[in-house]
Amino acid sequence: MARPEPALSVVVPIFNEEAVLPLFAVRLRATLDELGEAYEVVAVDDGSTDATPAVLAGLRRGWPQLRVIRLRRNSGHQAALTAGLFRARGAYVASIDADLQDPPELIPELLRTARAGGLDIVYGVRNDRSTDPPFKRWTAGLYYRLVRRLVADTVPAQAGDFRLLSRATVEALRELPERAPVLRLVVPWLGFPSAEVGYARAERAAGRTKYSLSRMVRLAADSVINFSPVPLRLATWLGVCGVLLCGVLVIIAIVAYLRDSTVAGWASLYVVVLFLGAVQLLCLGLLGEYVARIFGAVQGRPSYFVSADSDDAGELPPAGGGRPATAPEPRAGR
Ligand code: UDP
Ligand code: MG
Repeated sequence: MARPEPALSVVVPIFNEEAVLPLFAVRLRATLDELGEAYEVVAVDDGSTDATPAVLAGLRRGWPQLRVIRLRRNSGHQAALTAGLFRARGAYVASIDADLQDPPELIPELLRTARAGGLDIVYGVRNDRSTDPPFKRWTAGLYYRLVRRLVADTVPAQAGDFRLLSRATVEALRELPERAPVLRLVVPWLGFPSAEVGYARAERAAGRTKYSLSRMVRLAADSVINFSPVPLRLATWLGVCGVLLCGVLVIIAIVAYLRDSTVAGWASLYVVVLFLGAVQLLCLGLLGEYVARIFGAVQGRPSYFVSADSDDAGELPPAGGGRPATAPEPRAGR
């Protein structure tokens, strides 16, 4: 017999968190039990090499709502999150880190906010990061500024991966053909009705961060390159700058010639070198434009998601909310 769908799934990516897991489980369980609704916790063990699997097995014995998914190898935070999200069965799916930096006690409020407004997405927004080390705060600030500028200003600043999604949003994400989506950008890209709930980010309750500098750089590179053709256009802009510079140098060379203060052959040489360099950059930029379009086509993101169809629903809900969007059509709008 198929298990009934719970009202809420909570997805937790976990990598070598033996120290913090028992603390996390106590707080999460107390919160969810108090909710008085059917729920499941989807713990994704991202190939942990410490005692995490044993701790999870121990927790499972006394906590029937805990599901454990083990990945074969360490695949990274975003991949673990995606694995959990796609296997969750709840009508709403929350995601939260295991290190207690995001308070589990906020999950009921995320759920209430989504239900009250008929919203598809509720972001947990860190409006106080004073407990983060200065370097983390600085790099995080830089990251959000960069993606808001290069990707879209709909990306909420300081919203990490603590959020609640409706079933329809999860299905829409599943519909995207991307292999490794950067969820904190793909979710705002969907543009479904959403709200934000603020909270103060706490310190890690135990253990050490799993995000090394190189992982942070990789996340930033994935975020920008998967979402923006701006880096490909860099060559075009450099080429344009080269041509302009070339023009200025030609004028300087003419003035120098009229004043009779030239070195023979020098002006023609640098103008030719600069001009050729600029032309090459322009051509590279042109290639970049084509690559960008091919990239967009390969990504094959749907251009729309249907919210309702009077033929299916009988009556259309009011526009812009009222109830969560329905799932997208298979391969919609390609
Ligand atoms: N995590 C994971 N796989 C990884 C790295 C991290 O599942 O390869 C999990 C980790 O256990 C935690 C969450 O992702 O629950 C966020 O990681 P962390 O707290 O180390 O990142 P930070 O908050 O320092 O950015
Ligand atoms: Mg953390």
